[in-house]
Amino acid sequence: MTASANPPARSAWIVLGTRNRHKAQEIIDHLAGVPIELRTLDDYPTAPEVIEDGATFLDNARKKATEFARAIGAWVLAEDSGLAVDTLGGRPGVLSARYSGPDSSDASNNRKLLDELAGLPAEKRTAYYICSAVLSDATGRVRGESEGRCHGVIGTEPRGAHGFGYDPLFVIPEYHKTFGQLGLLVKRHLSHRARALARLKPQLIQLLPEMPLTHISHQTGTSSHSVTK
Ligand code: IMP
Repeated sequence: MTASANPPARSAWIVLGTRNRHKAQEIIDHLAGVPIELRTLDDYPTAPEVIEDGATFLDNARKKATEFARAIGAWVLAEDSGLAVDTLGGRPGVLSARYSGPDSSDASNNRKLLDELAGLPAEKRTAYYICSAVLSDATGRVRGESEGRCHGVIGTEPRGAHGFGYDPLFVIPEYHKTFGQLGLLVKRHLSHRARALARLKPQLIQLLPEMPLTHISHQTGTSSHSVTK
């Protein structure tokens, strides 16, 4: 065996179980201080689609984490998230991504939401984002779970170009601005995803010794935190 004066540092690694580049970027941003390499599904082009047919966000997050983990044989952190509008009895809820039909886009979903809430005053436009995050080990066993919520009000027109999904309509009352206007700097502290990840982080850190290790460069000493676009 050859001894090296500068052995490469090694790091635990997991895969983020999402194909949504915005979500992946927010998760990477949030876990930046954790000594772990975050890979994305771009590294696993043959990973199957997971059918999100659960009744709750937690059901879907569990499904994504465990099915991806079993399919690719790796630890997976997945989340399921969406918007619940009080006046609409919690809709669009788990159907947030497909709210305006099978060919939904962020723009068509936002339009439908504005139509459904047309004419309602601010006090009838309250809503919250919800995120369930689940960590699965490589065998498909759930090892950590958390939930985060973020309360706001649905505006009357889209404002701001940051974020994704319903962000241009989602007004944070303390700022009188939408997440679309406020961007990642505020979202990383207040969002449903940030809150769920803050709760999951201690569980993740505790499990680091059980995760497989990979090599990382001893020159930079940093792990890879990036999203392939
Ligand atoms: P899924 O978790 O991939 O099923 O889809 C989540 C959907 O909920 C997205 O397509 C968005 O429409 C919405 N959503 C979830 N999180 C956010 C967020 O942080 N900002 C804006 N929309 C979100």
